[in-house]
Amino acid sequence: VRDGTALSVRDLTVSYGRAVRALHGVSLQVPRGEVVAVLGANGAGKTTLMRAISGVLRFHGGLVTGGHISCAEARLTKAPPHRIVAAGVVQAPEGRRVFGRMTVEENLRAGGFHAPAEVRKRVFDLFPILAERRTQRASLLSGGEQQMLAMGRALMARPKVLLLDEPTLGLAPKMAEHIARTVAEINRQGTSVLLVEQNAALALRLSNYAYVLDVGEVALEGPSAELAASDEVRRRYLGVS
Ligand code: ATP
Repeated sequence: VRDGTALSVRDLTVSYGRAVRALHGVSLQVPRGEVVAVLGANGAGKTTLMRAISGVLRFHGGLVTGGHISCAEARLTKAPPHRIVAAGVVQAPEGRRVFGRMTVEENLRAGGFHAPAEVRKRVFDLFPILAERRTQRASLLSGGEQQMLAMGRALMARPKVLLLDEPTLGLAPKMAEHIARTVAEINRQGTSVLLVEQNAALALRLSNYAYVLDVGEVALEGPSAELAASDEVRRRYLGVS
């Protein structure tokens, strides 16, 4: 791993069972302090990539069959999820799966039981609504608020690299914009971010660098501003003809 690289994925191949090869030799880097986006259509392998990095792939019937994942000093390929979190790579719960019957406060504590008070304060500063609702059951929050809770819960573990899987999926444009601004603020405070998004316009706006996945391979990569200006990307991913 190069100095200054927060997360590195090299030649990653992933299969589900014998029949489905979901990733074929994917390589990507998240430089320290940056936001990197992964774009791609349904089924391109974005969720699989996130599962492999966060170590939960095996719980979905998948297997890393080749390649390497590492962050700063640690090799993370096939490591169990708790070791990956301890190394500083933390995913906001997939599909914003918060614990519905637990309160906001209990959900946050589940994310970082030993988190010092300043970490809790950071989360409440980023998401004041979570402070207001702290004694309320998570299931009573709106979709956008549950996404905030999922992100807040991940931040309680003090990530060096925050993994975000479709944080704006299903949200109204105004809420999506709010989440996007918060991701930018989290990054400004020093956390590197790997962002998977179907909303390509938003992802390219938020990120420094982006990769386009297509049926399990990196089809295209480059600085986000360049991708956003490319005719092919505009036509295929931004819906501009
Ligand atoms: P989406 O945005 O629809 O979630 P994606 O880009 O995240 O798409 P993946 O969900 O990673 O794509 O899927 C990549 C490929 O792996 C697809 O062919 C999919 O059918 C397959 N796949 C995903 N999860 C499993 C699983 N648990 N078992 C078998 N095949 C799977």
